[in-house]
Amino acid sequence: MYPWSHFIFAYLIGLIFTKFGLIGGKHALIIGILAVLVDIDHYIGFIIDNKFKDFKIKDAWNNSSHYHRLSERTFIHHKIGMIIVTILVMIFLLLGLTKLFLIISISYYTHILLDYIHIRIIDTKKLWKIKEKGFIINITYNEVIFDIISLATIMVLIR
Ligand SMILES: [Zn+2]
Repeated sequence: MYPWSHFIFAYLIGLIFTKFGLIGGKHALIIGILAVLVDIDHYIGFIIDNKFKDFKIKDAWNNSSHYHRLSERTFIHHKIGMIIVTILVMIFLLLGLTKLFLIISISYYTHILLDYIHIRIIDTKKLWKIKEKGFIINITYNEVIFDIISLATIMVLIR
């Protein structure tokens, strides 16, 4: 999924938790931003793979979204990352750091959930291939529909 989808969905789930008074609106925004940052490992993996010769975000982006020349996902996206994050958030919970628990949990697990749904279900039907300032974006029907539904739900929640 693209960064905006990760942001929209994580922010949406964060907003639902604001309705229970468990976190504030600012926390929901932070959740959205952190959900995007989970993919930072793609960039770091890309730099390591090209032996620190190419730091261009555009090249890392295109490799990840179009060329798939390497799997630059690190442990964050795999089982070991899930185990580490789960242990971490459980520690937050036990220490009574409920807000931190919710912020990290929602941002991380919504990200992983979307990635797995994307890999298993969505990745088939292409709608548009857009090239904008050198950035290649392959948009699928399902991701567009998902974004629209999520945005509509956000509108309902912030009304
Ligand atoms: Zn990801």
